[in-house]
Amino acid sequence: MEPATALLKRSSDARLPHALLLTGVNGIGKRAFAQWLAEALLCRQPSDTGACGHCESCRQLLADSHPDYRKLVPEGANAAIKVDPIRSLVDWLQLTAGQGSYRVALLEQADTLNRNAANSLLKTLEEPSDHAVLILSATRTGALPATLRSRCQSITLNLNDRPAAIAWLAQTLADPEQALREAGGGPFAALVAADEEYQARQTLLLNAWRDLFLHKGSVGRISESLSKLDTTVCLSVFSTWCLATLRLGENLTVGVNPAVQAVISETRERLDNEQWFTVHDRLLQLYRSDSASFKTQTVLEGLFADIRLMTNG
Ligand SMILES: [Zn+2]
Repeated sequence: MEPATALLKRSSDARLPHALLLTGVNGIGKRAFAQWLAEALLCRQPSDTGACGHCESCRQLLADSHPDYRKLVPEGANAAIKVDPIRSLVDWLQLTAGQGSYRVALLEQADTLNRNAANSLLKTLEEPSDHAVLILSATRTGALPATLRSRCQSITLNLNDRPAAIAWLAQTLADPEQALREAGGGPFAALVAADEEYQARQTLLLNAWRDLFLHKGSVGRISESLSKLDTTVCLSVFSTWCLATLRLGENLTVGVNPAVQAVISETRERLDNEQWFTVHDRLLQLYRSDSASFKTQTVLEGLFADIRLMTNG
């Protein structure tokens, strides 16, 4: 894979290809990488680590109101990208960029382009306007017409380049190794884990965990607060926290973020080591059983009631 920073360098001396095709298995983080690249291209003062995050362009992107940025995704499950939105995107791409040097369009799941849409897109790629950059991402590249593929520079994201991934993530994340582990090895998926959605979920989980052990609110209310989350996600995060609690007890450095560490300090005295192991084992058992097929709330309610009992004594 061409390092992301090399791509950015080429953008600054205007040798960036007009169309990039990001490929790689599902979940590896094509979307995050595409987003990262688009932001960096549009940023007024990008660095090797990407967009600055606070210039006017970055703020407009954050507010979903950047005049030189468009994103197209297939609508609904199993939907295709149809010709009309592609035509309007192509027209838009021909216009001169409003404020910066680039006009950037993101086309997610480009393998769902129908034939008319692909043909329409091909015209832009044959006669690209100077400062238009089209970023396509696709899992099934075979589903893309060869004519389209041949006009794009392909970038394949893969799991093998672990040291590079860690180095790259280290620019953004405090603990890239852990992020990579949690994301199952996909570097760009690891970066997604740093985004807001992840933070929101983490806050829900942390609040629930704290309230459970500190006896704030009923078991029913706490499990309901997590009802929208994936059962397996809850179980795996909680089991990680049990282990972190035990490690904290041994005064080992715990590689967790400060918010988690704070909650662990608040809750660890509620159980002794043996009980923490018991809770951990229970979580793993639930995780390994077919708990994913049950409602999150139901699984957690039983578990939380038992933990409440343990923390009573
Ligand atoms: Zn910026």
